[in-house]
Amino acid sequence: MIRRRVSILGSTGSVGCSTLALMDAAETAGTGAFEVEVLTGGANIARLAEQARRWRPALVVTAWPAQLEALNAALAGTGIATAAGEAAIVEAATRSVDWVMAAIVGAAGLRSAWAAAGTGATLALANKESLVCCGPALIERVQRSGGRLIPVDSEHSAIFQVFPAEAPERVARLVLTASGGPFRTLSRAEMATITPERAVAHPNWSMGAKISVDSATMANKGLETIEAAYLFDMPSERIDVVVHPESIIHSLVEFIDGSTLAQMGPPEMKTPIAFALAWPDRLAWPAPRLDLAALGRLTFEAPDETRFPALGLARQALQAGGGAPTIFNAANEVAAMAFLDRRLAFLNIAAVIADTMGRVTNSGVSSGSDDACDAALAVDAEARRMAESIIGRLARAA
Ligand code: NAD
Ligand code: MG
Repeated sequence: MIRRRVSILGSTGSVGCSTLALMDAAETAGTGAFEVEVLTGGANIARLAEQARRWRPALVVTAWPAQLEALNAALAGTGIATAAGEAAIVEAATRSVDWVMAAIVGAAGLRSAWAAAGTGATLALANKESLVCCGPALIERVQRSGGRLIPVDSEHSAIFQVFPAEAPERVARLVLTASGGPFRTLSRAEMATITPERAVAHPNWSMGAKISVDSATMANKGLETIEAAYLFDMPSERIDVVVHPESIIHSLVEFIDGSTLAQMGPPEMKTPIAFALAWPDRLAWPAPRLDLAALGRLTFEAPDETRFPALGLARQALQAGGGAPTIFNAANEVAAMAFLDRRLAFLNIAAVIADTMGRVTNSGVSSGSDDACDAALAVDAEARRMAESIIGRLARAA
């Protein structure tokens, strides 16, 4: 029986909902028992309130102060405490629990992930952007607090499951698999007319809007390359990406003797979430199972960085170090949101990232210090302003 007292930051999103659904399934199966300390969400008050009524947390927080009244009304009579705003989410993240799921999307999740990283809890990290912005310092902070960081991203969960942490010198190379996204086979000319609706319709994974766009541009695999470099202390040249459209092999570790270990599973986020929730144990729940005979075959191809330039830009950012990954991430977030708002063409997402990286000075975020989070957010803000101004200029020129 897996017993945990948990907080879920970003409980109303795709990963947050999957986490609660998994906990529910485990309780129904009699294999898990969970208490919830904190749930946080955004503007979807109906969903947040429904989750709160089911799980009876001590505290529920919405990111938006203007939504607090609606949240209070929805939870009237329950006795559940409520709060609103970023500072309240950060404070909630410091509460003492066994396990925190960091599932806020984007750099907006950095302060709360940073706060949770200082508590000694097991930090299940879905919010890859916080690792990209603050990786080495965030990892060090978790270690100093006596906690553990367990990656939730399926690729990094896969590597974590087969990586020889006690002897990392035995590893020759990491191989991240990528689905290739919904536009894997399109020409650049065909990509010019891609709409937000098409970009968020991922062939294998059901995810939030921003990560779906990242998957379509392959900026997601760029972010994941940086994430892998920090999590497994691996230089960029020893991290490869291979496109694997079926999303069954979630990533691989190649050893110095030429042997390679892979982790496999259906494309289902509850599986890596279950791994993080139960670690170092395993959770029995009614998981979808692989049927290899029904699948028949698995295919692989090299990624095409000409059609998907965001991948190469992320690698450049990783190699440049300092604040460059933060600049890459901020420009990508701003450009992806502008594309979703129909203010930017799909092909210009990578162009905005490249232009921002060329214009914002890489001031070199200090990696180990306590103020690494503030320093990263300062770089993030500057890169956001630059990316917005580039997008404005492109719009005026169009
Ligand atoms: P989502 O958009 O579905 O949900 C985001 C959550 O964050 C929601 O609860 C929302 O209310 C909250 N949120 C949004 N903006 C906020 C803000 N400014 N302040 C506080 N809270 C805010 O996103 P998602 O797809 O669940 O992704 C969450 C994270 O997990 C991302 O970093 C993503 O890259 C990562 N991830 C997601 C998947 C997936 O399958 N969805 C897979 C791997 C990694
Ligand atoms: Mg992933």
